[in-house]
Amino acid sequence: MNDPAWAEGGGTGEGTRAVRAGLPEPVKHEPALPGPAFAAHFHLPGDPTGPYTYGRDENPTWTLLERAIGGLEAPGAEGAETLVFASGMAAVSAVLFSQMRAGDTVVLPSDGYQVLPLVRAQLEAYGVEVRTAPTGGDAQLEVLDGAKLLWIESPSNPGLDVCDVRRLVEAAHAGGALVAVDNTLATPLGQRPLALGADFAVASGTKQLTGHGDVLLGYVVGRDAAAMAAVRRWRKIVGAIPGPMEAWLAHRSIATLQLRVDRQNATALKVAEALREQPEVTGLRYPGLPDDPSHKIASQQMHRYGCVISFVLSSRAHADRFLDALRLVDDATSFGGVRSTAERRGRWGGDAVPEGFIRLSIGAEDPEDLVADVLRALRESAR
Ligand SMILES: *Cc1c(COP(=O)(O)O)cnc(C)c1O
Repeated sequence: MNDPAWAEGGGTGEGTRAVRAGLPEPVKHEPALPGPAFAAHFHLPGDPTGPYTYGRDENPTWTLLERAIGGLEAPGAEGAETLVFASGMAAVSAVLFSQMRAGDTVVLPSDGYQVLPLVRAQLEAYGVEVRTAPTGGDAQLEVLDGAKLLWIESPSNPGLDVCDVRRLVEAAHAGGALVAVDNTLATPLGQRPLALGADFAVASGTKQLTGHGDVLLGYVVGRDAAAMAAVRRWRKIVGAIPGPMEAWLAHRSIATLQLRVDRQNATALKVAEALREQPEVTGLRYPGLPDDPSHKIASQQMHRYGCVISFVLSSRAHADRFLDALRLVDDATSFGGVRSTAERRGRWGGDAVPEGFIRLSIGAEDPEDLVADVLRALRESAR
């Protein structure tokens, strides 16, 4: 596409890029973002040549969305390829199960997304050796020996620890391992794993990327052609494809990505600063707080620190009273949406967190209103 002059005016160009991401060349009488192509199959006389043959393999609505995501995750990167999936887990599984064979070793984070233990059990059932170590302190370095793939989640969900991605990539590559980074929490405007040396950026687009809590989506961006061919084959075999409507909604949502992340992340910092002053709040984590244990490394590899805050209240009952008292924050799982949400993470089991652990996702409400709501709920729940 005819690249508008990103950042010609001296800014970062990120807002411009997000607004125009993946748009086709303008065509007279056509919409700027063509509507979803609802097609199980396409007209195909003669030899079955691509790109559009059957709806499980390719769809023009995905093509535009893949260009948009690729343009944000790996701007200007030659040879980077993007594939969209039905969900974040479809994307995560596509990388892990297409790259690993029986007898291979993979290193996962021990404090990552709560479905990873189920993935681990399935990998082990297929004869893959799985090792885990925490994200913080770059502890995965210690179990890398002989691994074929290193899986990083930074910042980790829900603990918000950060590892030095460049350092881990260097060690993994020295040992011949590929590196995938789960970029869900940061979004491509917060962190660009390929620029930090990783082979794959993988994410759930369900969270802040699309940001409205109404779409499930996943993606993989990679630059190794052979590895990406295997990921593409996996998508075809498993059929974990997004519907055209979801793909189109996601693309429309990306136009406002920079507006949303700037607003939500700035408010997250304000809420974190307010929480820091409250004696009943312990274990407060937000990588954007200058005194957070993650801040130093985060500031070296991230452009933005996300919209998720975590902290601990004295007990399960205390946390439940707090969640109940909130008026502007919905008690719901997931994160990254324009409407703030919070939950007591321990209710799921699986995460190694205290009973009173709260994950709070900051939305696009007025910052003053949110700070006031959170502080009022804390006052009312203290007993
Ligand atoms: C939500 C999430 C996933 C899974 O994404 P889905 O779209 O729910 O399948 C993977 N990784 C992280 C870090 C997540 O937060």
